[in-house]
Amino acid sequence: MRDLWSRLRHDAYLAIVIFAGLLGLVSIFPFALYRWVAGDWVMGALDSLLTLTTLTALYIAWYRGQSRLAGQMLSLLYAAGAIIVAIYLPVTGLFWFYCVVLFNFFIAPPLRSTLITLGSLAAICLYGLWRPGTIFPDLQHLIIFACTALICSLFAYLFAWRTTLQRRSLQELANLDPLTGVGNRRTLMQEIEIALANFRRHGNQCGLLLLDIDHFKAINDTHGHAEGDRVLVDLADLVWHTSRRTDRLFRLGGEEFVLLLPGADLNGLSIVAENIVRAVGERVRTADGSVTVSIGGTLLLPDDDGSSWMHRADVCLYTAKNNGRNRSVIYKGVADDREVAK
Ligand code: GH3
Ligand code: MG
Ligand code: MG
Repeated sequence: MRDLWSRLRHDAYLAIVIFAGLLGLVSIFPFALYRWVAGDWVMGALDSLLTLTTLTALYIAWYRGQSRLAGQMLSLLYAAGAIIVAIYLPVTGLFWFYCVVLFNFFIAPPLRSTLITLGSLAAICLYGLWRPGTIFPDLQHLIIFACTALICSLFAYLFAWRTTLQRRSLQELANLDPLTGVGNRRTLMQEIEIALANFRRHGNQCGLLLLDIDHFKAINDTHGHAEGDRVLVDLADLVWHTSRRTDRLFRLGGEEFVLLLPGADLNGLSIVAENIVRAVGERVRTADGSVTVSIGGTLLLPDDDGSSWMHRADVCLYTAKNNGRNRSVIYKGVADDREVAK
């Protein structure tokens, strides 16, 4: 039970799909029973089909981990269901359409839900025009339904769009370093766990470089804090632009950064580290000269956890600082933390 809540708490979209699916089940299943009992085979079969497919979507989301696919399935399914219900239950069936509009905007991204909603609205209205007197008693009913459904969709769209923007900016606030725009410490810890899991499960290697600007305190003291901030931004930009698309840069705190390099080998890690040291020396500058950086780096080892991995990089960084700074030291041994080689 604890695991269940923790999974729902940490995966907002899964929680939405499960909640919406259960709501769908509670709303549709009693109608399925009622239709069968009342001898309405068509509606009974339709409601039963909707119930079964909702259960399938819930299964896909929960057990297969494909909550996006399940959400899309549900929104398409209920939109199709709303069209069929509108045709088979003239006038009263139309009320379900409003629930489907809200459901779609709740579960699918704003643009996709707009397309699904407008598509199903058009289908119902075109059917009403094609066969007058079936869904709508007259044209006036059709026009009123189309207008109210459009207004309802517009408000739902605006609400969904605002919510998406707010969620995005909250995510950025929580995951990015506000000064440099790279990932923050919190995101780094999450990515380290992902890298460890990939290594254990699939054997995918990952490199870690720990970067620390040399004598940064002196830059602050001589040129001021604002200039120090500019150096941090320039360094983050430079490393970000010189690394591969799959590499991820994070600010650990202060003037320390971590670069994760999925798929790197020892040789690649050394080359990247040396390139960064050289590029920073050449391109990151203050008014009175160049800025330098020291780097400690290591690949993952079989028994690593997050802290042993970081610790090894830290020991290498310490060696780089002690050996005169402006250099990189990559861990090449397996026996001892002190066995580091340039
Ligand atoms: P070393 O070569 O041994 O790494 O020396 P250092 O001076 O770079 O390291 P130290 O740890 O002594 O100083 C780090 C400085 O970074 C001290 C702190 O004021 C400064 N700092 C931390 N965060 C920020 C920040 O966000 N902006 C600026 N401008 N300075 C910061
Ligand atoms: Mg430091
Ligand atoms: Mg430093």
